[in-house]
Amino acid sequence: MSAERRRPLIAGNWKMNLLKGDAAELCRVLKRGLAAPPATSARVVVFPSFPLIPVVARELVDSDVAVGGQDLHPGDKGAHTGDVSGSQLTDAGCTWALCGHSERRRDHHEGDDLVAAKVAAAARHHLSPMICLGETRDERQAGQTFAVLERQLRSALTVRLDAFALAYEPVWAIGTGDTATPEMAQEAHAFLRRLLGELLGEGAATGVPILYGGSATPDNAPGLIVQPDLDGFLVGGASLDPQKFLGIIRCSG
Ligand code: PEP
Repeated sequence: MSAERRRPLIAGNWKMNLLKGDAAELCRVLKRGLAAPPATSARVVVFPSFPLIPVVARELVDSDVAVGGQDLHPGDKGAHTGDVSGSQLTDAGCTWALCGHSERRRDHHEGDDLVAAKVAAAARHHLSPMICLGETRDERQAGQTFAVLERQLRSALTVRLDAFALAYEPVWAIGTGDTATPEMAQEAHAFLRRLLGELLGEGAATGVPILYGGSATPDNAPGLIVQPDLDGFLVGGASLDPQKFLGIIRCSG
């Protein structure tokens, strides 16, 4: 399947930003922008922090924009102070969950096994996992990029998933303004697509959206989105500015 036949998917990771009023306004501007021509074929999902999810889900209820959780606990319920379960996310209106974002790997020491358990929990609760993978600057410089991606992907896929996405996010590109070149991104995406083919079969692998994340902007997105194995973006900073986020969505098709 060619990239033209995979519907673009654009995700906004709001991280630990915004209060209720700002989040509601951002949703309203986003909805107005998406309703205005030119029409986009892209699927859009936003990942607000947990307390904002009810407000965002309410604002987006009559739109095509989906909502996701930035994390979830691997268990179903119980004594896990400060954590959020997959069923709580689903109940709040989420259909997606980010798993293995590098900021969680860094800030909360999440390893591959925990990420895999979170992916499985998402699937149990009817959430599509968006599995984040990527090498650090040191790993890239040491020539370990593909080994890291292979380890992260193999370990994340322990259960059958009906719907999921990968987000290739080189850690050195996140929030740094230092974007991967289109060639670097395509090389990593093609590698992940080949590995998916090995793990799931080629038919399934061609349907999996592989997003790029790392300082994506309306200026660099057009050069990235034309790469054959790049199906959209996981956008951090620029997703907080609706005009920039809409710019990325529009250039994606
Ligand atoms: C991210 O947090 O997933 C991300 C890609 O952030 P930024 O776009 O700000 O680099």
